[in-house]
Amino acid sequence: MNEILKKPVQYLKGVGPKRAGILKKINILTVGDLLYHFPREYQDRSNICPAQGLEHGRVATVMGRVLYARELKPRRGLTIIKLALDDGQGVFFAVWFNQKYVIKQYPPGTMLLVTGKVDKSYRGEIQLQVIDCEVTGESHQALHGGGIVPIYPLTEGISQKYIRSVMQYALQETASLRDFIPEHLLVKYRLPGLKKAISSIHRPENENDIRQARRRFIFEELFLLQLALAKQRKKIKRQQKSHRYPEGNGRLVEAFLKQLPFKLTADQIKVWNEIRGDMESSYPMNRLLQGDVGSGKTVVSALVLVKAVEAGLQGALMAPTEILAEQHYLGLSRWLKPLGINTALLTGSIKKSRREKLLAEIERGEVQVLIGTHALIQDMVSFKQLGAVVVDEQHRFGVKQRLALQAKGNLPDVLVMTATPIPRTLALTVYGDLDISVIYHLPPGRRPVRTYHVTHRAINDVYRLIRREVKNGKQAYIVCPLVEESEMLDVQAAVDLADRLSGTVFRDLNVGLLHGRMKAGEKEAVMIEFRDGNIDILVSTTVIEVGVDVPNATVMVIIDAHRFGLAQLHQLRGRVGRGRSQSYCILVADPKTEEGRQRMAAMVNSGDGFVLAEEDLRLRGPGEFFGVKQSGLPEFKIASIIRDRRAMECAREEAAVLIEKDPELQRPEHQLLAQELYHRFGKNEKLLNIG
Ligand code: ADP
Ligand code: MG
Repeated sequence: MNEILKKPVQYLKGVGPKRAGILKKINILTVGDLLYHFPREYQDRSNICPAQGLEHGRVATVMGRVLYARELKPRRGLTIIKLALDDGQGVFFAVWFNQKYVIKQYPPGTMLLVTGKVDKSYRGEIQLQVIDCEVTGESHQALHGGGIVPIYPLTEGISQKYIRSVMQYALQETASLRDFIPEHLLVKYRLPGLKKAISSIHRPENENDIRQARRRFIFEELFLLQLALAKQRKKIKRQQKSHRYPEGNGRLVEAFLKQLPFKLTADQIKVWNEIRGDMESSYPMNRLLQGDVGSGKTVVSALVLVKAVEAGLQGALMAPTEILAEQHYLGLSRWLKPLGINTALLTGSIKKSRREKLLAEIERGEVQVLIGTHALIQDMVSFKQLGAVVVDEQHRFGVKQRLALQAKGNLPDVLVMTATPIPRTLALTVYGDLDISVIYHLPPGRRPVRTYHVTHRAINDVYRLIRREVKNGKQAYIVCPLVEESEMLDVQAAVDLADRLSGTVFRDLNVGLLHGRMKAGEKEAVMIEFRDGNIDILVSTTVIEVGVDVPNATVMVIIDAHRFGLAQLHQLRGRVGRGRSQSYCILVADPKTEEGRQRMAAMVNSGDGFVLAEEDLRLRGPGEFFGVKQSGLPEFKIASIIRDRRAMECAREEAAVLIEKDPELQRPEHQLLAQELYHRFGKNEKLLNIG
């Protein structure tokens, strides 16, 4: 046991109750916490040289003690501050312009590390025009010792000097530390052992020490996370489900495939095989199906439902909005009803009398496929035997809702689908407890959507394009921006625009309106009108963001596009380009920020959701990328989800292999690892339930 890591910091020399209190503020409670308090950077002081030998014009770092300060005013508006410093061999001057505060900040006696440009042109003085200056706690003797010095994140009441000294004591206690990462992984990835890495990260001898130590801690962090997730995944999988499917595609699945108006793509076949394998096994499926907008996930979900029906079970599909549920119902019924599969729709707006009848049919097992919204997970819904569950646009739901639907059956097979092209690294983290299938390529015959960025001044050209397309029998969407603060304002903007357009430029065309505040029946009616081509131009809020599938629509205009995130813009663009005709996406925006401009450029330059997602992640960081709903994203101490994506993949693979061999980490050689895992995640079950 690595007991020492669990000891309270107060155990160390130099840490009394007061300092322990301060350390607690930066989450340092134990000796282990302290040892894992890594430097934020290092200063290479091996190159610190005495000022005397420096060449004029070069940039150098010199250390010295402040002797006195002088203030010169050579002319109006210019103040020169000169600090005289003693570097142990002589005097040099650190020079600032117009920064009087340094006099107070660095009183005589202060040890400074000054980096600056050497200027010897003034009376033979050695001056450093300061680029960077830092107070150092080094004693005078250490001055020429040099070496690489760690710089720690601090909090008030604690200095670099103090942390370095207690770290010294902590390091002395590490002699008996044993590594919890299995030896063969250290060898395989050429990582330093725990003891060596801890010593290297705090007291490196050279740059390479730092690099290797960091590699190890990054791997360690990712590996432990993936191990926790793999354990969770395995736990679900060890429970045998009560229902079984016959192997291979049965009569019903074959009939379904045969009547499709198209052939499955290679990617669809691949993911279907993965899914089928899961369903046919004795353990419940828990799989994420990822595929860009328009990649054809719906037909795959239909296969899951049909296979359930074929085995005499019920299937359910849950969608995040009524519009989408309604559309899935309309689309899937077209395929399922001819096969004699009893398919029903359940949403919040279904009338009471109808609902009661429906609930009874679901309970008796007469409804074989149920499609709906959150309404599916309400208490009064109970299935006879729910075998398969599909959650569409998973990112719109919380984990709880997925689990609630899952709980409607006895270990049903679960497929969650998302069109948010989550970068693989993120998916591995956020959906770590799920297996992942990906549809990479769109069905054939699609033409890339032509995307343009125009300013508001060019809006009339945009209207001309819409008119041209409508004349050719096509349809258009115009999306109004989401007003974060108020859905009412948001809706008002769409209402106003629809009014204005139908009264002026598009007086002769049919302009429809769709927004979140409309009654379910109204929404449905508008969607059907649009699908049937009776509406030429649909003005909408972002309610159409997900799932809407009207292949005849060829224009997507997004007003104030810079106010949307990349992922959302890409989703919106995905509403067009679904048929064989050329489609257009017009971003109307006058972005005020550089990031906004970059987002517009990214949209124009790439049609690939995965590329855009990586870009989005780069521009906004993981927190923003997922928004509030996904705040379950773990925080890393040293690893970075973007930079270390390869390490993440290795960690995931290795974790899976290890858990496969020893699911509960009960073998003696994994004892330390199990303890470490418990130490890090035991109390934080929440993390393990993300996704
Ligand atoms: P998403 O993955 O965004 O949910 P959909 O399932 O809505 O995409 O599919 C987008 C469109 O592509 C639909 O109109 C669907 O009928 C069509 N489609 C799906 N698979 C194929 C295929 N293999 N060949 C041709 N068209 C397909
Ligand atoms: Mg979809």
